Amino acid sequence: MILDGKSAAADVLDECRTAAAVLTAAGVTPGLAVVLVGEDPASQVYVSSKVRTCGELGFHSRKIVLPVATTQAELLAVVAELNADPAIHGILVQSPPPPHINEEEIIRAIDPRKDVDGFHPENVAKLVLEDPSGFIPCTPAGCMKLLEISGIPTQGAGAVVIGRSMIVGKPMALLLVSKRANATVTIAHSRSRDLPAICRGADILVAAVGRPNMVRADWVKPGAVVIDVGINRIADPTRKSGYRLTGDVAFDEVAPLCSAITPVPGGVGPMTIAMLMKNTLQAARQTAGL
Ligand code: NAD
Repeated sequence: MILDGKSAAADVLDECRTAAAVLTAAGVTPGLAVVLVGEDPASQVYVSSKVRTCGELGFHSRKIVLPVATTQAELLAVVAELNADPAIHGILVQSPPPPHINEEEIIRAIDPRKDVDGFHPENVAKLVLEDPSGFIPCTPAGCMKLLEISGIPTQGAGAVVIGRSMIVGKPMALLLVSKRANATVTIAHSRSRDLPAICRGADILVAAVGRPNMVRADWVKPGAVVIDVGINRIADPTRKSGYRLTGDVAFDEVAPLCSAITPVPGGVGPMTIAMLMKNTLQAARQTAGL
């Protein structure tokens, strides 16, 4: 089974559109602010697509593009202004910022009630505590939603997550081990010994590394479910853009072995934006006391 993230995301977005119309009729239009510092081409694509999706759902949005030379103080001032803006329920500062920006300080400056990326320490704590008022990082939330929509059970499953970032790997592992999912989870990373053997034990294998085609056929247990979070640009002179996207999993050789697998593109990527919209809706509802 190819796990179609585009179609699952469309279902989530339909729900968001309906819910946004109800909220708007009650006087609260969900609002998302997206801040981009600099001109990273991949970030520009992500930011535009988030703002476009807001428009499609009837959300209010603000796109703030700042020059690459923006200082830490200037960026903090923008965040403070957005924290105080009652029309904005969600704030997202697109990662990665230029190297002179201290991203951690920026994340901590965002009002946790508007931290729809779920990166603020208060939301990280709520994830650990399984407190549903917190915001769950969009990519792992999207992976879980895709498993749920596809009817893939996680109860008692052996899951391996490759990668321990705060954006994907760690929250993914926490979601899988939560009382809702009840998987038994191993987190592997760059210092793990014999990664192929660890992966071969997985009923559900999640790859979130950023190394094209790293997971090979002999890393995968026959019948496993494989979630490929990786988005890697590799040179492709046959494309107009000069590149194509590939995941962390060698799809062509792994897919025939799996019971289910996400493609790249069209798997986890669309789910990430859908969950961002869901989080923004949650923020708007919570602000309105609903
Ligand atoms: P990161 O660089 O912050 O983390 C990568 C992790 O992989 C680290 O924890 C590291 O320990 C581990 N790692 C590195 N080399 C390894 C190796 N040889 N063996 C085992 N583990 C290794 O990256 P990230 O932000 O977590 O993103 C990971 C990938 O997911 C990237 O390709 C990124 O583009 C993609 N991503 C996709 C989405 C989406 O919407 N689909 C969202 C976020 C990130």
